[in-house]
Amino acid sequence: MTTANCVHHGTRSSSSGTSVRRLPNPAWVVFLVAVFILVFAVSRGFADEDDTFGHEHGKHEHGAVTFNIALDGDTLLLELDAPAINVLGFERAPRNDAERKLVTNAHAWLAGGREMLRVPSNAACRLQSANFTAPKLGTGHADYQPRYAFRCSNPAALVWVEVWALRKLKEVERAQVNLITPQAQRQQTLQGGELRVPLK
Ligand SMILES: [Zn+2]
Repeated sequence: MTTANCVHHGTRSSSSGTSVRRLPNPAWVVFLVAVFILVFAVSRGFADEDDTFGHEHGKHEHGAVTFNIALDGDTLLLELDAPAINVLGFERAPRNDAERKLVTNAHAWLAGGREMLRVPSNAACRLQSANFTAPKLGTGHADYQPRYAFRCSNPAALVWVEVWALRKLKEVERAQVNLITPQAQRQQTLQGGELRVPLK
């Protein structure tokens, strides 16, 4: 239990006093997300569909969430793609104070990027940017697609990541991980509460 440290601990920047910097959609994030979309759209047979980047590039299926994870140098990228019902427990506008509070808390979590990933502590990863736009609720199906970039000062130690976001998501039946690292490019399905994804 002591061998690993939550990435989100690093975002609290206890000693430096600085807060998380929200970088405005860095070009390399856009590039890598585009690579994700291309690679997995082609591999999953979506290439004949609308290929507008940034729009829904996966199927909207209740219970099915996707984690796109890429390691490029010292940068670890995570994109979550989840139906609203698996984030909130419902997929409509909130109807009472309790539901409004639930939405507020979920959005704060997604915007802050904490408790998303856990990595080996000696990889020394810190959240560098979070890119979150709340979907419009109450107009039909809705998806959450936040993106995060972590800077790791010892990326060689990144032999695994754990997608702790799954502990907060609701009623997930299938979690697919699409992984791109210098050593690997593969898909993995997490089952039975499994969180860990090997990166090597
Ligand atoms: Zn839906």
